[in-house]
Amino acid sequence: MAEYTPMMQKYLETKEEYKDCILFYRLGDFYEMFFEDALTASRELEITLTGKNCGTKERAPMCGVPFHSVEGYLNKLVSKGYKVAICEQVEDPKTAKGLVKREVVRIVTPGTNLDTNALDETKNNYIMCIVYTENKYGISTADVTTGDYYVTEVDTERKLLDEISKFTPSEIICNESFYMSSVDLEDLRHRLGITVYSLESWYFGDDTAIDTLKSHFKVASLSGLGLKEYDCGVIAAGALLKYLYETQKTFLEHMSRIQAYSTSKFMIIDSSTRRNLELVETMREKQKRGSLLWVLDKTKTAMGARMLRTMLEQPLIEKSEIEARLDALEELNKNMITREELREYLNPIYDLERLIGKVVYQTANPRDLTAFKNSLKMLPPVKVLMKDFSCSLLSKLSEQLDTLKDLCSLIEQSIDDDPPISVRDGGMIKNGYDDEIDRLRNAKTEGKSWLAKLEEDEREKTGIKNLKIKYNKVFGYYLEVTNSYKDMVPDYYTRKQTLTNAERYITPELKELEDVILGAEDKLTALEYDIFCQVRRKIADEVLRIQQTAKAVAAIDVLASMAFAADQNGYCRPKINEKGIIDIKNGRHPVVERMISNDMFIANDTYLDNKNQRISIITGPNMAGKSTYMRQSALIVLMAQLGSFVPADSADIGIVDRIFTRVGASDDLASGQSTFMVEMTEVANILRNATSSSLLILDEIGRGTSTIDGLSIAWAVVEHISNPKLLGAKTLFATHYHELTELEGKLSNVNNYCIAVKEKGDDIVFLRKIVPGGADRSYGIQVAKLAGVPEMVIARSKEICEELELADLSNITRNLEVGQSSKKKAKKPDDLEMAQISLFDTVKDDDIIEEVRELNLGNLTPIDALNKLYELQNKI
Ligand code: ADP
Repeated sequence: MAEYTPMMQKYLETKEEYKDCILFYRLGDFYEMFFEDALTASRELEITLTGKNCGTKERAPMCGVPFHSVEGYLNKLVSKGYKVAICEQVEDPKTAKGLVKREVVRIVTPGTNLDTNALDETKNNYIMCIVYTENKYGISTADVTTGDYYVTEVDTERKLLDEISKFTPSEIICNESFYMSSVDLEDLRHRLGITVYSLESWYFGDDTAIDTLKSHFKVASLSGLGLKEYDCGVIAAGALLKYLYETQKTFLEHMSRIQAYSTSKFMIIDSSTRRNLELVETMREKQKRGSLLWVLDKTKTAMGARMLRTMLEQPLIEKSEIEARLDALEELNKNMITREELREYLNPIYDLERLIGKVVYQTANPRDLTAFKNSLKMLPPVKVLMKDFSCSLLSKLSEQLDTLKDLCSLIEQSIDDDPPISVRDGGMIKNGYDDEIDRLRNAKTEGKSWLAKLEEDEREKTGIKNLKIKYNKVFGYYLEVTNSYKDMVPDYYTRKQTLTNAERYITPELKELEDVILGAEDKLTALEYDIFCQVRRKIADEVLRIQQTAKAVAAIDVLASMAFAADQNGYCRPKINEKGIIDIKNGRHPVVERMISNDMFIANDTYLDNKNQRISIITGPNMAGKSTYMRQSALIVLMAQLGSFVPADSADIGIVDRIFTRVGASDDLASGQSTFMVEMTEVANILRNATSSSLLILDEIGRGTSTIDGLSIAWAVVEHISNPKLLGAKTLFATHYHELTELEGKLSNVNNYCIAVKEKGDDIVFLRKIVPGGADRSYGIQVAKLAGVPEMVIARSKEICEELELADLSNITRNLEVGQSSKKKAKKPDDLEMAQISLFDTVKDDDIIEEVRELNLGNLTPIDALNKLYELQNKI
């Protein structure tokens, strides 16, 4: 250490404390990085790497970014998953003795970035803390820009993954044991792009966590916070808060409440289902356009947009809660004029949640406050309009909406209507708000007239007609005389500066005036800053009221948006039942109907129940519309449970506890598993976790393997699901295996449907209509033709198809008994014919023959023989 320069020694001391961060070290107008940090940053930011003499033989690698444009660089590093510690000069270099004191003032990480410019305003930016103990996971999630703060607990890895995909945090912090769990961290890091790391164990000590929470919420015990049942969740919440204190280095007053929730309060949607149903983004392009959110999001405020997204991620399962939302939508749509007026008043409302975050962090500038004031002005009319509604949810929201008139008039009186952005240059406090400010301002303006007078006097005294009093930051006020008048300058002028065509002077009188004016100006800007901070502080003190109002505004916005979307798209109010019946008349796919040209979408019915219509087997050629139909049914159920109206003529929706989907495999390629393996893993998950109240969407199960294997798996899966003793979930099952339609006759609750097509000569026309019965052909060759496969290949496939009668496996399955397992040792079918035989053979006969063959007659007593015969007869 000793060989390093004093500055470098200090740097290294600080760096030692923030080893896991890139240290931005403020030196003058730059943030500098050294050594390893410099190498990383210069690579990631594409900035030049230089070196600095640091006392040792070799120069230290160094790179830097200018302080005034630091945000862009910072965001770039943070979005790549780095943590950045910002070390500032905390004393004025002019007055400092020796080395300027420096301190790390904030650590910016992906989940704690406060720069709202770098964040999507329609999305929360979450940080999640996970604590893994032997039998459960404690999960706490927060958004530091809005103050949202949640806690829960789950008992399985699956449910944990569901929570992760629900929140999609940008950063996860965890205890070390979490690394021992079977969660695939690489998948979280690479596929989901989440920064994941563990914290030291002391963060998770019971006392540390509980004390942190108690002191933050100023309570004596945690029971008042509703956290009693969440012992593991509390540890996660406490550790998260501790971590936030350490990185943010402020009091985090806007994290004013913690919401404990039980995951069983919401419909469970696992991550692949979220992706498959394209709730908030499309599967391929990962964009909002084309997702359900895109159709429903007509919100006017950023807060509303975020809330709608959150709601969509967790549909309800409580009938009364769903009905409350539906009532609100109905009332809003009955009173359309008020609804639209309401939306107009919501439109200019600024992001109050993130604003109060900035106020608390003391980063809100004067313009933020005027924007805040302009937003608050909208609240009284909103509140008046809300009086038109009487349903319970809208009345409750109206009550929660505080018009915050006191804050509005505080800002109105104190902050200029068109203030500068900077808090340091003055010009932001209104006249009449503070006497001292007014006095200093007067001195300043009077000073200006004194200057004008002095200028006039000097012109007269000297006869220099173009003499001017000017100002710059270096010399202050001076008299400027062009060269042509230089000779007329009197003795009492002191020369300060010579330019090519002019000279600059001062006089004792000018100096005196300058002192008064500049003194007033300095005092004024300092005082304006103080007063601004006081106003900001007063607003910060009302954080709870503002947050509550912000949430009410968001909820009103969301409901009005859903009502508007329902109205615009011709949705109907669904009925909600708890009998397990799903009865949709003329349902439509909410997204596809918007993507195709006008009114071209063909509506279809869906009916499922817990009796005879539990499973629909859906056949039909590729491109017929099977996936669209199945997804539309799932989406309509999901929308209903969201409390939204649905795209149908009518819908009666039995609440489902989970929706599972197994469709396509396009998205899974990245995870490195084979398509078939992924498919089977998901099937396993569904069969293990679905309940009789779940809705399953299964698209072509068993496609990724040989026909025989695939068909067998598909068949067995349907058998399993249809059996109420085993699972009994309502299911839409699309398949290419026409053989599965045989199940209709064999299982009482399985029914066949197909999507109609019309043959037109050699071609087919898609009718898109779902009708009872199984499809008898796949029309694969016709679809291939439609897709543009060359005519030669099409013709040849027809030939082969005719020859390959064997490819039709329906004869086999027609004879397959339901639910009987074969004890026969598997013979290896070496061709399709063999396979056919093995399926054809009735299980029982084979078994009996085998047993008879293996009998050792020589050793059998007559009575044994008789018994054996009796046993065999029973088997027939
Ligand atoms: P499949 O799953 O049977 O291969 P898809 O569901 O993918 O077929 O549908 C193929 C295309 O047909 C969709 O992209 C959509 O544009 C169109 N389509 C599907 N269903 C309908 C419908 N009911 N009305 C109009 N067009 C539809």
